[in-house]
Amino acid sequence: MSAWAKVPMGPPDAILGISEKFKASTNAKKMNLGVGAYRDDAGRPFLLPSVRKAENALAQMNLDKEYAPITGIPVFRELATRLAYGDEVYESIAERLVSAQSLSGTGALRVAAAVLAKFYEPSSTIYVSNPTWGNHNNVFSAAGLAVQSYRYYDPKTHMLDAQGMLADLEDMPDRSIVLLHACAHNPTGVDPTPEQWDDILRVVRTKNHFVLMDMAYQGFASGNPARDGFAPRLFAEMNVPMMLCQSFAKNMGLYGERVGCFSMLAASAEEAARLESQVKIIIRGLYSNPPVHGARIAARILGDPELRTQWHQDIETMSTRIRDMRALLRSHLEDTFHSAHDWSHITSQIGMFCYTGLNPAQVDKLTRDLARVFDP
Ligand code: PMP
Repeated sequence: MSAWAKVPMGPPDAILGISEKFKASTNAKKMNLGVGAYRDDAGRPFLLPSVRKAENALAQMNLDKEYAPITGIPVFRELATRLAYGDEVYESIAERLVSAQSLSGTGALRVAAAVLAKFYEPSSTIYVSNPTWGNHNNVFSAAGLAVQSYRYYDPKTHMLDAQGMLADLEDMPDRSIVLLHACAHNPTGVDPTPEQWDDILRVVRTKNHFVLMDMAYQGFASGNPARDGFAPRLFAEMNVPMMLCQSFAKNMGLYGERVGCFSMLAASAEEAARLESQVKIIIRGLYSNPPVHGARIAARILGDPELRTQWHQDIETMSTRIRDMRALLRSHLEDTFHSAHDWSHITSQIGMFCYTGLNPAQVDKLTRDLARVFDP
């Protein structure tokens, strides 16, 4: 008998399952609305001009392919965390900030979860927003954390259930671990306002919660990385015990290069040194050290004034198109199809996801009926 005879069939990934169906369809008008990957007007992936220029410059340098250190390329770590926290806050926390280049945002979350599971004593439960990105549950449970949720989205108003969220943050045990999406919440596109962030901060501080901030879309929400960095800057400035997980998949279009950064704030430089030693041990056992190519691209863009200006234009291009698509979808529903339904959430939501309010049966019908319309 095979050693694997008793292994059950696992369920397919909900999002990647849609991509498989999409690939299998021969319909010329097909559109994949599942996976979060930016497309241009022709439906093609977008290679950012800043990335192309950085790659060309790197190609001229004939760099070797030696291993990076366990925590990745030092200049990348500095530039990535400066981008997240902003120069001013960065300078004030630099000597007690632990950071590591990661396998994109998912890898940063996996390292964060491993550190929390191994060393965070007050709790091994992480609270995530309801709803949240589907993979959070997966990543956190894989590291040994229990996952619970707090109220976040109000389906009736299509807005933040701010009261419910604050009440749940209050009701959790003191020193709980709370996952917060820094901007462009996935999947709802609903972010707290700056005033609501102040309220969240107040409760987090009163309850001494630990914040794990997931920032997969810096720059994608508003088109401005500094503005989208509002939450991590506020929390770090106020010395909230926290970790931050950054991804450059979307904002640099480096999806498959797996470029990200994990960072955590220690109470002192001495504590930071101890934490860094443990982060290294964890990474060594997970994947040893990160890949170099994508991080070199990101570091080049962030460190070269000309490329950085180009990159700011590139994210402006992407975020503007996303906003235009939202406006167009809403105007088609309201003006072309004369729908009397309130579609204002399509344009008030932020980032690349549209939480339509359609239920699974409606989505199935839409997929089937459109297929009928388009398939001869
Ligand atoms: N967090 C959130 C909220 C996300 O939406 C994503 C990407 N879909 C990620 C993390 C991680 O993505 P990646 O590993 O590709 O950077």
